Amino acid sequence: MQTGKSQNLQKTLHSLLQQSSTINHLKQIHCRLVLLDLHQDQFLITALVTALSHRFQAINYARSIFTQMRDPNTYLSNAMIQAFSETPGSQRDALSFYILQMRVGTDPTRRPNRFTFPPLLKACVAAFSFVKPIQEIHAQVTKFGTYNDVYVGTTLLDSYSKCGDIEFARKVFEEMPVKNVVSWNSMISGLARCGDVGSAKKLFEEMPEKNLVSWTSVISGYAQNGYFRETLVMFEEMGASGQKPNDITLVSVLSACANLGALGLGRRVHTLLEDNGYQLDLFVGSALIDMYSKCGMVDEAIHVFERMPQRNVVAFSAVIVGLAMNGRGLEAIRIFEDMRFQGLLPNDITFVGVLCACCHAGLVDEGKYYFGCMTQVYSIVPKLQHYACMVDLLGRAGHVDEAYHFIMEMPIKPDVVVWGALLGACRIHHNYELGVRTVQQILELDPQHSGGFVYLSNTYARMGDWDGVKNVKRIMGNSGMKKLPGISWIEVNNVVHQFFAGDKSHPQSDRIYAKMDELAKLLECEGYTPDIDSVFCDVEEEEKEQSLYVHSEKLAIAFGLINSPEGTLIRIVKNLRVCVDCHSAIKLISKIVRREIILRDSSRFHHFTGGMCSCKDYW
Ligand code: ZN
Ligand code: ZN
Repeated sequence: MQTGKSQNLQKTLHSLLQQSSTINHLKQIHCRLVLLDLHQDQFLITALVTALSHRFQAINYARSIFTQMRDPNTYLSNAMIQAFSETPGSQRDALSFYILQMRVGTDPTRRPNRFTFPPLLKACVAAFSFVKPIQEIHAQVTKFGTYNDVYVGTTLLDSYSKCGDIEFARKVFEEMPVKNVVSWNSMISGLARCGDVGSAKKLFEEMPEKNLVSWTSVISGYAQNGYFRETLVMFEEMGASGQKPNDITLVSVLSACANLGALGLGRRVHTLLEDNGYQLDLFVGSALIDMYSKCGMVDEAIHVFERMPQRNVVAFSAVIVGLAMNGRGLEAIRIFEDMRFQGLLPNDITFVGVLCACCHAGLVDEGKYYFGCMTQVYSIVPKLQHYACMVDLLGRAGHVDEAYHFIMEMPIKPDVVVWGALLGACRIHHNYELGVRTVQQILELDPQHSGGFVYLSNTYARMGDWDGVKNVKRIMGNSGMKKLPGISWIEVNNVVHQFFAGDKSHPQSDRIYAKMDELAKLLECEGYTPDIDSVFCDVEEEEKEQSLYVHSEKLAIAFGLINSPEGTLIRIVKNLRVCVDCHSAIKLISKIVRREIILRDSSRFHHFTGGMCSCKDYW
């Protein structure tokens, strides 16, 4: 039985432990405990261990104190597990500590309780990326009757999902007798993380009460898994529900805007960020730069970049890549030199931007110089992406053989992208012999590569070898291969519209096709004839012209012309590379309708004005 006096002493010491601001102060109190013969007091030692690890990361000191305890109780052991789980590098020790200290215990004062398992599970997720330890702890959770606790259950399902076992996570979730908003959110973000956004969305809809984390889990899940239109739809719903977004939500939305070229919404998000007082920090700033440059608005990207109070390599790389993609290679290189001058170290992504800048601007010597600089000055080992840029650079500039030798001398095995860059060069410079050999290399790596087959077929067609064409078509037909459908997106009044080739599903379809007819007549007056070469296969002439005529980007442009005021800019995003025919048609359209048209295709930007394109017909 404690006397009132010793209870007061214990209270005083406990509050001293909680308030001490230096590790020396804690050591002094520890000495005092020893002198007062209180060094076996579980309550005080638990507070000491917690303070040592939580505030000063002094895990070894905490552990040595623990080992001097004759009979540590559950609370003290829990504090040690918590300490291990919070200390990077020591998480692995949590599991062995648990096995030694607690698993054996039949003594009721040493039994694990519901506070034991959550930190233990978190430590295991951090220390091991596999599911076995989680399963073992799951068995312990059941054995000690803590399975129905909401905190334990939630941590358990979250641990399963983080270790990649989403089915077991789901099972735990289903079996939980009580779920709180955190349980729901963990399950939703687990599903989203593993790519099952359909189930994540379904669960989200069943959720009794949603908070900011729930919305953000679904929205970022969509964005990270490439469901960009769905991301934007959910964001609208979130706004309608009255829930305010945070910076994580907004950055996810920005990445969807970037991918869809949804500039209107991207600008709105920018305004929201400003209105909510978010700093242009590195995270938000880089996302904005990426959004503006992927929407073709490089000047706005630069504006954001210039206003960032702090810039790191990520921000610099974003702006360099942005300029490069938009064909402003010289400026990209100037900013890169600026970055070097400021003493910032470029990384491999920066060099992707720099090489891509040289490539799109046709700066062959500079490209070679920077490639050497990357390996020799910065000791960055080139990746496939860098090799692909170099092949592209050499190939586009007409050094097709040099590009081929460059591939032959690569220290790593070239992939489909590297060979694809060479194939592009063969296509532009009409080097059919090397082109066919390149296709062979591509098909060895990827027997389903439709681009390779299309090239072969077009090459045979160009040479009038219709048997060859039939052969290729037969192989493609047999392997069930289909050309990836072309899709174009255009944003009008903050809504993103989507078009497939030959699409007639849009509600305004009649008006769009009428507009196309009108444009076709005007194009004809300008001396335009469809470039029949750029279509795949030996279809009848008329049909061929027909299929060119309705490539998705043309539909999107017609739709844009109908639905936006005269003289305004039209921006299109396409998932494939623009074909030669569309490219020359769009050049003329920009002249006829006196509009600037920006088209982002799978490899670069085309800024069309007055009958010209920024790529100088070189893409
Ligand atoms: Zn086309
Ligand atoms: Zn172009």
